[in-house]
Amino acid sequence: MSDRLLEEVGIGEYVRMLPKAEVHVHLEGCIPAALAGRVAREHGAASPVPIVEGRPEITSLKGLLDYLDWSCALIDRREHLEEIAYESAKRMHDSGILYADVIFNPSHWPHWRGRVGEMTRGLALGAAAAERDGYTPIGLCLSLKRQQSRAEANEIVDWLLEARPERVVALSIDGNEAAGSHNERFAEAFARAAAGGLRRCAHAGESSGADGVREAIEMLGAERIDHGVRSIEDPSVVAELVERGVPLDICPTSNVVLGVVPSLSAHPVERLRRAGVRVSLNTDDPVLYGIDLAGEYEEVAATFRLGADALSEMARVSIEASFATEELKAAISRRLDDFLAR
Ligand SMILES: [Zn+2]
Repeated sequence: MSDRLLEEVGIGEYVRMLPKAEVHVHLEGCIPAALAGRVAREHGAASPVPIVEGRPEITSLKGLLDYLDWSCALIDRREHLEEIAYESAKRMHDSGILYADVIFNPSHWPHWRGRVGEMTRGLALGAAAAERDGYTPIGLCLSLKRQQSRAEANEIVDWLLEARPERVVALSIDGNEAAGSHNERFAEAFARAAAGGLRRCAHAGESSGADGVREAIEMLGAERIDHGVRSIEDPSVVAELVERGVPLDICPTSNVVLGVVPSLSAHPVERLRRAGVRVSLNTDDPVLYGIDLAGEYEEVAATFRLGADALSEMARVSIEASFATEELKAAISRRLDDFLAR
């Protein structure tokens, strides 16, 4: 049924129409290039990487981190945060995303240190305005950094549980694991977040190997793994993901650009899916890579010759794995069912 629709409208239109969620996208990688350019001109600040056709040219992890730090450091007004949230929701809507979990890490935003409440307020205002205009609803995942101390992590969770900031649905953790994942340091913070009703996701299996994925599940109680692609290095971790049904939030272009995999055709996403792991497709840092989610579905479909069944299965996982309310998840699932019945 749905394969016929795919043939009729073409893959580009099909993946844009496909009802889905996005569950692995960073606010730091969503700052509209036009906003960064405008504020940079006000401050007379020059971008650390070339700007080509209005967007940063990112070719390495160093370039990505330099641009990310530079652009986040420009954002010093609440209106900027509102604009980032609003424009992100609008862009996601264009890809047929009906809900998104957006990860933000306060440690990247120097003007908002010690003012995380004000920061989330700005984001919540922008997200609410976008939702009123019919764009993608957004939930926020506040992310710890791997380099933070046990005391810092616990303090952030204390604040989250006390302040209950608007739209913050989850605790997350990201950052380079090359110098160690240090999961034992964060176990208590994650356990307390869980007890307080917050959802949990964790970056693992990108700069860490398969063992990092297992630790994130077992020590942090992560309900979802951001990336997790290196699980493929250990069949026992793949088996654990299948058995527990823990989804991987996979970002194909990001993995290729940052050299986690040599090429898209060498990417383990399809091997993991065929092994029975629940996988979804995501953008990670869409503005930095100049990509959108519909484009990621299209690239993966073309590379692995996927039809409507495989694409809708990944869309289904994205919806089920999301931290949207049960009501919203049910509504989006129905939209997917209706779409597949066309
Ligand atoms: Zn990420």
